[in-house]
Amino acid sequence: MTNFWTETVKRLTPYVPGEQRSGAHITKLNTNENPYPPAPEVLQAIRGVEGDQLRRYPDPESVELRTTLAEYHGLSIDEVFVGNGSDEILALAFLAYFTNGKPLQFPDISYSFYPVYCDLYGIEQKLVELEPDYSLSLERFEANLGGIIFPNPNAPTASAVPADAVSRLLEKHTEQVLLVDEAYADFGGESVVGLIRQYPNLLVSHTFSKGRSLAGMRLGVAFGHPSLIEGLQRVKNSFNSYPVDALAQAAGVASIKAEDYYRQTLTSIMQTRQQAVSDLQNRGFEVLPSAANFVFAKAPDGNAEQVFRKLNDAGVLVRYWNKPRLDQWLRISIGTAAEMQALLSALDA
Ligand code: PMP
Repeated sequence: MTNFWTETVKRLTPYVPGEQRSGAHITKLNTNENPYPPAPEVLQAIRGVEGDQLRRYPDPESVELRTTLAEYHGLSIDEVFVGNGSDEILALAFLAYFTNGKPLQFPDISYSFYPVYCDLYGIEQKLVELEPDYSLSLERFEANLGGIIFPNPNAPTASAVPADAVSRLLEKHTEQVLLVDEAYADFGGESVVGLIRQYPNLLVSHTFSKGRSLAGMRLGVAFGHPSLIEGLQRVKNSFNSYPVDALAQAAGVASIKAEDYYRQTLTSIMQTRQQAVSDLQNRGFEVLPSAANFVFAKAPDGNAEQVFRKLNDAGVLVRYWNKPRLDQWLRISIGTAAEMQALLSALDA
């Protein structure tokens, strides 16, 4: 059959997310979702959306949601952008800021969507090697060569860099955009949202998918200088003039207001993480320090593939990559205490 694919489409290696099998006998620790439901107020806000709000198009400017986010972070509304998950924010930012004919620098072990977007937009990739202990040294980035993006904490390694190291990089890197992907910053990392007024080339992305238990809703946020935000808006509006749907806007506002619930679930996840680290260490795993809602653990004797398969057969889903430097390791999301117990029982069996 004739294939009408362009060179760009032929070149694409689409992102493959973790397996989505679920059900009573499945313990799903492979996609870093929050094990707790969103706050009751969030579910109430979704149920409270009236027919009229769905009959009409949503607020194209998401004013209430952006105002709520701006107040929460001590910013003004023109420094806040919202999108359908932070993946959409990344896609828009790549198009708006990284298709300038210059290479984009990012860690060689990092979020696997970055190379996908580079392929999609024809952006040259310049990979920055992680240290032997899998930490990210920002000194390895070359200032002003092209754009820079990294997750903080990094994925799948879970390690974080301090905000002052990001500041030091921004002091040197002034002519291109630096995007800090803070999808996992809720779980103990240091956010650099507070630096956006100091550095007009700093863009920071957040998500409601992890700390706020709303992965099913698709809601992400970007913070930056009003000019960076306007650039994202221009690209977004060229595709589709409505930022996020009415349900997501209502849920997002309620989620930001449910501060106590949010803090409680974060605390539970961080406590469970601490316990998981020692339980895994007691079973011969080497576990990297984690500032995220997952841990990166080297299987005993480096036998990660076998452990992955056996866990999978037992209905415990974790993440494994058959790639250099990753193939002895597993990425394990932090679930509820009961889910972590199911993991340990399967490991012991
Ligand atoms: N950045 C990183 C580092 C991630 O791991 C993820 C989740 N897969 C995302 C961004 C995207 O999350 P979402 O689109 O759900 O906001």
